[in-house]
Amino acid sequence: MSGWLRVVGLGPAEADWRTREVERALAEAQHVVGYHTYLARVPERSGLTRHGSDNGDELARARRGLELAQRGARVVVVSGGDAGVFGMAAAVFEALELGPPSWRNIEITVLPAVTAMLAAAARLGAPLGNDFCAINLSDNLKPWAVVEKRLALAAQADFVIALYNPASQARQEQLGQALEILRRHRTLDAVVMFARAVGRPQEQLRVTTLGTADPAWADMQTLILVGNHTTRCVAREAARPWVYTPRRLAPAP
Ligand code: SAH
Repeated sequence: MSGWLRVVGLGPAEADWRTREVERALAEAQHVVGYHTYLARVPERSGLTRHGSDNGDELARARRGLELAQRGARVVVVSGGDAGVFGMAAAVFEALELGPPSWRNIEITVLPAVTAMLAAAARLGAPLGNDFCAINLSDNLKPWAVVEKRLALAAQADFVIALYNPASQARQEQLGQALEILRRHRTLDAVVMFARAVGRPQEQLRVTTLGTADPAWADMQTLILVGNHTTRCVAREAARPWVYTPRRLAPAP
């Protein structure tokens, strides 16, 4: 029997946001490998062995999945959101490149899913209506100087910017520094959105400006969106404003 490895994203939270293809992979799998917080979102069933691990152990997790598939098992490696966006997919290919040549014959499929940026944007309106970029604020795998440079250039280029991993228990100061960099290149009235735990019971959405954004509003479960210079709010009487970025951008004067 030949095994396979599917690298799947579980979406940001709600099972409704999970694709049918991902559900099928989970239903057919014999092993599911992932960070234990995400594994908790995969229902238990007989015939499915779970391999949970701590955060930060991505390469070991990827190797585990590849070894099991190589031995003929049907294996799913899970990520939150989309596996290709700051998730397990790149770790699997890194392990594959470094691993034994025989691993390259394993049938590997990456299944797309809803990433946090898209779920947050949908809740808020249409903030990604014009060109955008995504930056991972964590400096666990890259120098902080690179993050600073990318922030400055993205702000100068007037991209709508999605910030993943804005804070963690170990990293509290960096978001403040990141906002300072953005303030140097963008006006203080730029729209800033904090989307916390989107799709989960504790979901919280906050629309503010670059001038008043407070780093304390973000935690590990927060995605931040910074609008471009045209991003605007449509006010509503008793509800949070809709935020959108117009499709049209006037030529520079
Ligand atoms: N692969 C994931 C991202 C992993 S990085 C994806 O595609 O979404 C982890 C970061 O994603 C968090 O720090 C946060 O910035 C963001 N994130 C993940 N789920 C989220 C959610 N439900 N609401 C808001 N942000 C979320």
